Amino acid sequence: MAEYAVYADRIVAGETVKTTCAYCGVGCGVLATVDRERHFAITGDDAHPANFGRLCVKGSALGETVGTDGRLLYPAIGGVRATWDQATGYIAEQLQDIVAKFGPESVAFYVSGQFLTEDYYVVNKLAKGFIGTANVDTNSRLCMSSAVAGHKRAFGTDTVPNCYVDFEAADLLTFVGSNAAWCHPILYQRIKKAKAERGMKIVSIDPRKTDTNEIVDLHLPIKSGTDVLLFNYLLVQIAASTACDHDYIAAYTDGLDEALQAAEADVAMGDVATRLGVSGEALTTFVEWFIATPKAMTLFSMGVNQSGQGTDKVNGIINIHLATGRIGKEGAGPFSLTGQPNAMGGREVGGLANMLAAHLEIANADHRALVQDFWHAPTIITGAGLKAVDLFDAVASGKVKAVWIMATNPIVSMPNADAVREALTNCPLVIVSEVMADTDCTRVADVVLPALGWGEKDGTVTNSERRISRQRGVMAGLGESRPDWWALAQVAQKMGYAGFDYASAHDVFIEHAALSGVKNTEGAVLRDFDISPLAALSLDEYDALEPIQWPIRVIDGKPVGTDRLFANGEFYTENRRAKIVPIRHQETGYQTNAEYPYALNTGRVRDQWHTMTRTGLTARLTRHIGEPFAELNPVDAKALGVVPGDILHIQSAWGQALARVIVSDGQQAGMVFVPIHWNGVNSTLSRIGAVVNPVVDRISGQPECKHTPVALKKGALNLHGFLMTSSSIALLDADYAVNVRTINGFRQEFASHIEELTAFSENGVDWLTSLVDVPFGTERLEYIDLAQGVIRLAWIHDSKLVAFAAMALAMGGTEGVDARQLVPARAWLDDQLGLEVSSVTRRTILSGVPADPASDVGPIICSCFSVGRNTINRAICEQKLQTVAEVGQCLKAGTNCGSCQSEIFRLLEQADKAAAAG
Ligand code: SF4
Repeated sequence: MAEYAVYADRIVAGETVKTTCAYCGVGCGVLATVDRERHFAITGDDAHPANFGRLCVKGSALGETVGTDGRLLYPAIGGVRATWDQATGYIAEQLQDIVAKFGPESVAFYVSGQFLTEDYYVVNKLAKGFIGTANVDTNSRLCMSSAVAGHKRAFGTDTVPNCYVDFEAADLLTFVGSNAAWCHPILYQRIKKAKAERGMKIVSIDPRKTDTNEIVDLHLPIKSGTDVLLFNYLLVQIAASTACDHDYIAAYTDGLDEALQAAEADVAMGDVATRLGVSGEALTTFVEWFIATPKAMTLFSMGVNQSGQGTDKVNGIINIHLATGRIGKEGAGPFSLTGQPNAMGGREVGGLANMLAAHLEIANADHRALVQDFWHAPTIITGAGLKAVDLFDAVASGKVKAVWIMATNPIVSMPNADAVREALTNCPLVIVSEVMADTDCTRVADVVLPALGWGEKDGTVTNSERRISRQRGVMAGLGESRPDWWALAQVAQKMGYAGFDYASAHDVFIEHAALSGVKNTEGAVLRDFDISPLAALSLDEYDALEPIQWPIRVIDGKPVGTDRLFANGEFYTENRRAKIVPIRHQETGYQTNAEYPYALNTGRVRDQWHTMTRTGLTARLTRHIGEPFAELNPVDAKALGVVPGDILHIQSAWGQALARVIVSDGQQAGMVFVPIHWNGVNSTLSRIGAVVNPVVDRISGQPECKHTPVALKKGALNLHGFLMTSSSIALLDADYAVNVRTINGFRQEFASHIEELTAFSENGVDWLTSLVDVPFGTERLEYIDLAQGVIRLAWIHDSKLVAFAAMALAMGGTEGVDARQLVPARAWLDDQLGLEVSSVTRRTILSGVPADPASDVGPIICSCFSVGRNTINRAICEQKLQTVAEVGQCLKAGTNCGSCQSEIFRLLEQADKAAAAG
């Protein structure tokens, strides 16, 4: 097998390496040092222009998620260990056979915004130029493909016109469908700091009141899906105002009249504020602020993109910026906040099924010829491939017979996820490249290939502001794990294809950079993505590459990046003029009805990432929110007869899920919010993707993850409990079970329905005991009150607590009482595992409640200093704290990475409300 070189081989052991974070699209710079035992020291890189030294809690915990636990260490075919040579040979043979029998379109690749650009480049080259299939799609389809489609309709190219410093320079900053406080924390903190220094106005347009509201001056909680109406209304108001930039419009744009006509028709259909579900006053304020503020930035993310009308929503936002000429200028422009670390890099190399490499177009024969010539490829695809939802439908129908899934977990993240699982289970060839051994996808794979993880990988990523940064490996890959580009190149070579003999990520990168410059001057193949000055980088120069924004020009003999585009026109449409796109508000997809009266909205939580295969590995991140939750408005909670801690059953026409109830008046009545993270390995029935409808935007193909009609009811579960152990135990055969990583072990939450109440008293203790694997000589303490339906057991070995279990049954006499209230709080007990138990504390342990209430810190809010919700609430109350800064001074909470400041703010607000209510 051919060898390859990685950055980790080129550094001195223990050297501090500049790299980038593996998670969101902010793309923070990280300084990483690792010792021989894979212990990491992680800090923010002061010199990186995305974060200037700051990291959020996920980034700070990177070193805790790259251990050896659970890693996939070697290739396997049909569950049997294989060598790389055997595995790649088998894949090549199978793919050739399938292509020969069913044609190239029977082969598909489903990849990831977690990929490095070099991985993305090789998969696209192999598929689109050699195998001849355009079926290469990515989980970025779920993330920002509506932004891509909106950019291309308006600008003729997929380009973000502005940069992060514009957020700080703006006088008005509007978030649309974005909880940046949780999803883009470092940008949020930069904005918060700028607001404190400069006093800019901040607006949030979002059906939910989220933690981002901490810095918001005006919240427009519009009805889900009404964004187009809002931006059409704003366009009409702009056209009648002095904010309308007639010079810019005349010089650089087309389509204003048609767009205005469409907008006016929307507006004429009835009172806009009422239809948006906001007050007339709030709407007027927003319009007046936007009209009066030349330096206006509009930041949008999943709440806009993940919609049946996502592309139109994006164009609604771009339209108002084109009509005012507020684009590509300091502090002024529309800005797509990308979800993943390299969604942008994937777009550069054609990582979506409807794209070609280097921002070239599949539909353009000149572009296709350019790419084919450059690759010396035997073929080139002539039309778009299958977008994610269609791709898995084609797997289900048997049209696609081989799919290679890399760095993503579609059985969890896709809409209609149960159907995706069934499709993959029945697919003749499923290849999964993974870092972790046990995921929903490895469970259905025919071939598994061990991939390098963060800290091992070597290549580049591009963040939301077009900034390319090096992600550098700090240590060797575990076991036989290999780079994804290398695995793809091995298979390509075994299929007999030339042009895949790369020796390093550097080889791939300079080819990618060179392609971006081919014929990139004027005429039919002109495009803005040009990084060709980097094609001459030597390996050393590639290793030393500083973060740089494309397009890249050579000035004074040096590559120089570009911070902004389009202030002076120069778009990439055929006539080089931007399009102001006519759009109309539409009801898309499925609407709520008598059977499914609530709208399900899905999204992220602060400390988890995607399907938890990495962030679920450290208690530092799971202590914030350990279980899947369903957030309801108080009115709905009352109507449904549920209280916090109950388990909610969520049912759609596609699937079902269970999650703990939380209640918040930030949630709109009629809606329920559930996070996307829990998977089928760490939970029995909390993969919310199974519930989400497979509706997609008609242009971008991006799924509508923000609006699925669902029916809600209290889970018919009368038995609740949890089990704490120092080693992981398999998921229980319970209706609801969730495994949570804790500081010293694991906790499994469970709930079920039992018909025979006597089974509880007769078998409860034995059943719990059978689940616990404790050393010989372990003592069991018991608290059993069968009349109340309560059992608590503690296992002590060598005077230390080694396991704890609690279980409660809602007896006839406690009908209507939440059984979960009958079992102890978790946070304090989690911390007792492994600790000494004295003769004095035995009784306390068994009660599940500390003698000193202050010991029960509650769920962790500040992960940096392990400060819990109970501790903060007590301090607010007892010391009469008024501000986040005062909480910080008192407890240190929020004074390091700052990710929790908005939650502390919310606790202060709640305390205020409680005080006002007496
Ligand atoms: Fe990573 Fe947090 Fe920065 Fe996103 S904001 S790149 S998750 S450190």
